Amino acid sequence: MELWYTEEHTPSVRFSIKVKKQVLSEKSPFQQIDIFDSEEFGRFLTLDGLMMVTEKDEFIYHDMIVHVPMAANPDAKRVLVIGGGDGGTVRELTRYGSVEHIDMVDIDEMVVDACRKYLPFTSCRLDDPRVSLCFEDGLKFVRRFEKSYDLIIVDSTDPFGPGEGLFTREFYGSCFKALTDGGILVNQHENPYYESYSHAMKRAHSRIREFFPVCRVYQAHIPTYPSGHWLFGFASKRFDPLTDLDAGRWNSMGIDTKYYNTDLHVGAFALPSYVKRVLEAE
Ligand code: SAM
Repeated sequence: MELWYTEEHTPSVRFSIKVKKQVLSEKSPFQQIDIFDSEEFGRFLTLDGLMMVTEKDEFIYHDMIVHVPMAANPDAKRVLVIGGGDGGTVRELTRYGSVEHIDMVDIDEMVVDACRKYLPFTSCRLDDPRVSLCFEDGLKFVRRFEKSYDLIIVDSTDPFGPGEGLFTREFYGSCFKALTDGGILVNQHENPYYESYSHAMKRAHSRIREFFPVCRVYQAHIPTYPSGHWLFGFASKRFDPLTDLDAGRWNSMGIDTKYYNTDLHVGAFALPSYVKRVLEAE
């Protein structure tokens, strides 16, 4: 018998991966957690039936959500990760000796426990002494800080279910307040190709722009996400991701990445015309 994981990307488009075996299926108070093994993508995690990470292509997402802001400001010392329960974002951040402290706040302890047990390839640095874990809604957590973080990375699920609050005006305003004067906010920004996702992307972009003087969008190719074309938001109080990039400095750090490099950093901000039009129309 053949087993397939199938995800609905739109009511008329489906994406399937042939599964070797199901490793975990459990329901937390927040979401359905499933882990599968596959031939093509290795082990992968889904939440509420939506792809989060696969062993084969997670490096693209995690390189782009971490190294783009860290190259724009390599002096970031205090970092807040909201969501990110699989640990991949923290793994990449711990590669910077200059990062002094990382708070990771995920609403769902069961996701983190499952990833520690079954996804060591992403969760392997969660025990780094610079990392503090907190299990709380990121929307509530961030409210209590003022000028406390140099970088906030929102590595969340989509804007429905537990992740909904992380796409609100209130949340972006709290992030602005929690950031230091040179602070940067990066978030996963959905895909521009399918209407339902591009609506969320537009809305997030216009809300972030209400608070941040620098507000850009960059892209990556992530094969297992809907349409394969994924966007990230880069917002900051001061740093510009292109004019403040010191490629020589980042390259001299010797961080060996599989996807990110400083040429790609520049290219990732060159968006297709239809995406630019949508963002400019906001
Ligand atoms: N790379 C992924 C993607 O874009 O599909 C995201 C991965 S990560 C597993 C997403 C995490 O966000 C999950 O562990 C989930 O529990 C967490 N999360 C969702 N809503 C949250 C909230 N309101 N506060 C904190 N964490 C949240």
